[in-house]
This record gives sequence, C-alpha cells and structure tokens, in this order.
Amino acid sequence: MSEATRRGPAVEPREIMQEGDAELRVTWGDGRACLYSAPQLRRACPCAQCVNEVTGQRMLKPEMIGNDLSIENIEIVGRYALTFRWSDGHETGIYSFRYLRQLCESVEANDDLE
Ligand SMILES: [Zn+2]
Repeated sequence: MSEATRRGPAVEPREIMQEGDAELRVTWGDGRACLYSAPQLRRACPCAQCVNEVTGQRMLKPEMIGNDLSIENIEIVGRYALTFRWSDGHETGIYSFRYLRQLCESVEANDDLE
C-alpha cells in the first residue's frame, strides 16, 4: 500500500519540460529527474481503451506503437496529473504524477535486471 499512500516531494513535479518532439523530462520535488520517451509513455497509457478497467489487463500491445511516435501536446490536469495528445491522435490517457514517478522507477529497475 505504500504506493497508494505515497505523497510529498517524490510525487510533486518541480519542473515539467518537453524536450524535442518526443521526450518529456520531469524533475521531482525530491530532486530526482526522470526522462520519458513518447513511445514509452504511450505504451504505458492508463486509459480505458488501453487497459481493461475490470481486469487491469493491458489491451494495448507495445508493437502497436511505433518508435517514431511524438508528443503533440501536454496539459496539466488539476494539480495531480498530465494528459498528452500523441501523434497517433490518442489523447485519453491521464497520467497521475504518482503513476509517472512509478513508471520512471520501474524502467530503472528493469534496466538493472538486463
Ligand atoms: Zn490510452
């Protein structure tokens, strides 16, 4: 349950910057910086079209997203999330800051395994 209760600087972005067409950099309140690529974020889209809401199963296959995907627009939702419009037209995913932080950490954990 630590993930659900996590709050504070680690999930509060200090700076959100788009880099080029296809990268996003988030610097968090605790000083950690995370770099995301557009295809990585798009493949992790949490919306109801991409993830089955009942089972939690990911419906979107990674190979359905090209590596040339880019970011067309980024908006902040409330004070807790980002939403993107991708170059494939998809724009229904809402990425909470907590989810973004978790994505960043899971990518680094996977890197350690390889
Ligand atoms: Zn989606």
